[in-house]
Amino acid sequence: MSLILKKRKAGTIYYYQKGASPVLLLLSGTHGDEFGVINPLKQVINKYLSKLPDFIFIPEVSPSAVKKRTRRNGFKNDVNRNFFEKTKDIEAKANMEIVARYKFKLGLTFHEDPQLDSFYLYDSEIMSSKLLHTFKAHIKEQNIGLYSGIDDANDVSLGNVLDDGYITVPAHAKKIIHGDFWDWSLLNGYVKRLLCPEIPGKLGLKNKTFLVDLIFKDLIFPLLNI
Ligand SMILES: [Zn+2]
Repeated sequence: MSLILKKRKAGTIYYYQKGASPVLLLLSGTHGDEFGVINPLKQVINKYLSKLPDFIFIPEVSPSAVKKRTRRNGFKNDVNRNFFEKTKDIEAKANMEIVARYKFKLGLTFHEDPQLDSFYLYDSEIMSSKLLHTFKAHIKEQNIGLYSGIDDANDVSLGNVLDDGYITVPAHAKKIIHGDFWDWSLLNGYVKRLLCPEIPGKLGLKNKTFLVDLIFKDLIFPLLNI
């Protein structure tokens, strides 16, 4: 499905932009085996287009990985280990050039955990208990589980322990994984606060769309005071 906004090209990737002063950054398609969240995200962005503040949306951070539907991209890289100065990965480079033009108040990098049917969320700051409580209650009402346990050892935040679907992971406190978007965007100040929802890969399209929609209603709008 397409987005109402005009497609823009940057090197090998494409993106969408609303307005001249984007405060919100939306990413998906970093890992090609996590393509299932891309269409729900496009659908929800279209739904809230007039309500959303100025934003940039990069639906396929790694188009070559999405095309192959594999974690590694067409250059045999995990693009999420290639966000650093002098990177040789042309996809990471194209993303960095777009993101580094702005200072985003809030960024969301949508991933999927292919092994799971329950949800979890990384947050670079501490969510207010009121927001978090409401968000979790709505997930439970939909009969979707909240994951507790160790995150995917192969993913962005190796060895973090999730508690009831949520964890705060400040960039500087993380175990060092060179080149992930989390550290690069936060430590350079391009994104003030970053959320990484891990949409459960084993859920159907309806529940994936429900979760993405809920993230906009219960988190993005309140966090941006909309
Ligand atoms: Zn991922």
